[in-house]
Amino acid sequence: MQPLDTNKKKISILVPCYNEEKSLPLLYPELKNLMDKESSYDWEILFVNDGSKDNTLQIIKALRAADDRLCYVNLSRNFGKENAMLAGFDYVTGDCMIIMDADLQDPPSLIPEMLKYWEEGYKDVYAKRANRGKESWFRKKMSLLFYQILDHSTRFDVLQNVGDFRLLDRQCIEALKHLRESERYTKGLFCWIGFEKKEIIFDRGDRVAGDSNWNFWSLFNLAIEGICSFTTAPLRFATLIGAITAFGAFCFLLFYIGKTLIFGDPVQGFTSLISVILFLGGIQLICIGILGEYIGRIFHETKKRPTYLASEYNEDKVFQIK
Ligand code: UDP
Ligand code: MG
Repeated sequence: MQPLDTNKKKISILVPCYNEEKSLPLLYPELKNLMDKESSYDWEILFVNDGSKDNTLQIIKALRAADDRLCYVNLSRNFGKENAMLAGFDYVTGDCMIIMDADLQDPPSLIPEMLKYWEEGYKDVYAKRANRGKESWFRKKMSLLFYQILDHSTRFDVLQNVGDFRLLDRQCIEALKHLRESERYTKGLFCWIGFEKKEIIFDRGDRVAGDSNWNFWSLFNLAIEGICSFTTAPLRFATLIGAITAFGAFCFLLFYIGKTLIFGDPVQGFTSLISVILFLGGIQLICIGILGEYIGRIFHETKKRPTYLASEYNEDKVFQIK
């Protein structure tokens, strides 16, 4: 065991892991290299095992047996990356924390640069992707639209093409620990808390092993999550659509009353009638859906359930629910 030098600053690396048995053996040597090179700091790597169904936990335990800078929190089931990160915020002990994926898509080689900016006083050093990699045209356009909606409807700056790979000062970690909403969109929370931010540009590669846990629908759901948990603009949009259609319907009404008074009223117009009914029905359903999104969130928040349950922290059973 290495003696702890109390004057050294401690850096925590937070790695949420879900079915990463193939990635971890590749990730650890890279991190070990880094920790050995940057020996003026104390290091902690905190793996949050998010209910993996493969041997991720066994691999983490085996790595920890050989290197006690490695720590882990085991969640009682799969809670999703957003909640796994909150568990990480609760359990990291460093003066700052670097969040990275287990699949080496976030290059550890960027960490020394992050630390340099942190030493200069920046509180949130985030890595921005220079490109979005192998994504379809449609997915890129959808993601751009999502950022534009969010940016125009919130009071804080929304960062585009920025993931969770970043360094956060202890001040930011403490701030984030207070944001315990159950429907989480952490990328938005990083922007919401503010603090001095610094950008680093990097090229995001592909996964070293295993498959991405995201498909189109889970990304679509995350986008809805992002919009509905940060802005009530869609509700205003519903009101606006309602007002516009009501105004249109009123003009329509005046037109038909006039027409009937001047030309009489032969029974006609099934097509226009049915299209107006269907159009209005569609708009009403969309607006009810938007309302439903918000009511669903109120429903989940009012239950006040913990956002995750940890069962084990470094071989110890966890009894206290955070
Ligand atoms: N992850 C997690 N819980 C989940 C899904 C993913 O902790 O339910 C972790 C995963 O192990 C990885 C990170 O979140 O370390 C990013 O996941 P992935 O690589 O699938 O996402 P992508 O890089 O495609 O955005
Ligand atoms: Mg990944």
